[in-house]
Amino acid sequence: MQCIVNRRDQFSAVGRYWFPELSEIENLEKFGAYSKFPGHGHNYVLFISMIGELDEYGMVLNLSDVKHVIKEEVTSQLDFSYLNDVWTEFQQTLPTTENIARVIWERLSPHLPLVRVQLFEHPQLWADYQGEGKQANLTIRTHFSAAHRLAPNLSVDKYGRCTQTHGHNYHLEVTVEGEIDSRTGMIVDVAALNRVVEDYVVKIFDHSCINEDVPYFADIVPTTENISRYIHGLLESPIDELGVKLSNVKLFESHQLWADYSGQGMEGYLSISTHFSSAHRLAHPDLSLAKNTEIYGKCARVNGHGHNYQLEVTIKGDIDSSKGMVIDLGAVNQIITDYVIEPFDHTFLNKDVAFFNKVVPTAENIALYISNTLRSPIQELGATLYKVKLVESPNNACEIYGADSESTSVNAAVSQPVLAIV
Ligand SMILES: [Zn+2]
Ligand SMILES: [Zn+2]
Repeated sequence: MQCIVNRRDQFSAVGRYWFPELSEIENLEKFGAYSKFPGHGHNYVLFISMIGELDEYGMVLNLSDVKHVIKEEVTSQLDFSYLNDVWTEFQQTLPTTENIARVIWERLSPHLPLVRVQLFEHPQLWADYQGEGKQANLTIRTHFSAAHRLAPNLSVDKYGRCTQTHGHNYHLEVTVEGEIDSRTGMIVDVAALNRVVEDYVVKIFDHSCINEDVPYFADIVPTTENISRYIHGLLESPIDELGVKLSNVKLFESHQLWADYSGQGMEGYLSISTHFSSAHRLAHPDLSLAKNTEIYGKCARVNGHGHNYQLEVTIKGDIDSSKGMVIDLGAVNQIITDYVIEPFDHTFLNKDVAFFNKVVPTAENIALYISNTLRSPIQELGATLYKVKLVESPNNACEIYGADSESTSVNAAVSQPVLAIV
């Protein structure tokens, strides 16, 4: 059984976009304010994603080892550094966010089973690197405020107040993929990308009533799925002209609900975020306290501790042409409540959820249990469970992909959660 675990870390560093062979004016023309002496800085936030089988203790890797490696190889070297000088890689290729992500991958890959390095320059701009030569992804985040109503074709009886005109602060994430230039370190001119998204999307949607003001939605229901698909269509060719490929459009209607569209016909993804608050203890009842402490550290303390678990469930399906949805949202929310939130919320997982009497409730095992529990009921609603992500704390999260191996690089064979049997 394979699982992805994510570890967060951060560093603060200064960098400058500057070619010594160019004059000050030429540098300013090429890189704008990024060329200014002596440089500018960011609080970089780093997410390292690693894949592996769950071991007999219900973990992919020992996270305290992972923490140590990331600190040793990356953050202790980059924190409070001048990026252009700190690693020789940045003398040849500028320390852009995508290039820093690539070099971090190269530094960590001998030590960790990486699947992704994600580096945030700030909350509106980040890079993803997955070990594919010079290929990298860059994402920008923006927002617009708009009114809409779920109409036509949707009944008041079933969709209630959503059929009345109301509004949202939509958050939009646009991801592009391209090759890192070996000298500038960039896959695209970020200012030009921001302008395209502003001109082709934000100007049209911001402070509009989507049903009335965007002609496409005169007869098409403006669900999050349909809006994300339409935005993809608006952006595809202007982004091509920037020399990169539009990879994904992610549109948040709220922090609890968002859609992804990546240009695959009517195929869309809908994600629901919710949470439960539970206590747990990482210790197998058949092992001694000393042995449990050796494996799980402080998490083995005898009276347990707790988390606000954030659960994200991503569903894949075809966007229904009349309702504009990949799944019946009310029905899927009810399934998540009945199968997960109600049994888990405000419990001590080891004692109150029978399954975890003998299975150690690591985040990995909890995510796997949720994934196995939700798969069939979601299938019965005519869609596919694509991913379950469980965020245990700001620094730790894990992801289980559903039994849908053709759409993900993750080997998605799913078996039973792991019993810590010695
Ligand atoms: Zn709405
Ligand atoms: Zn814990």
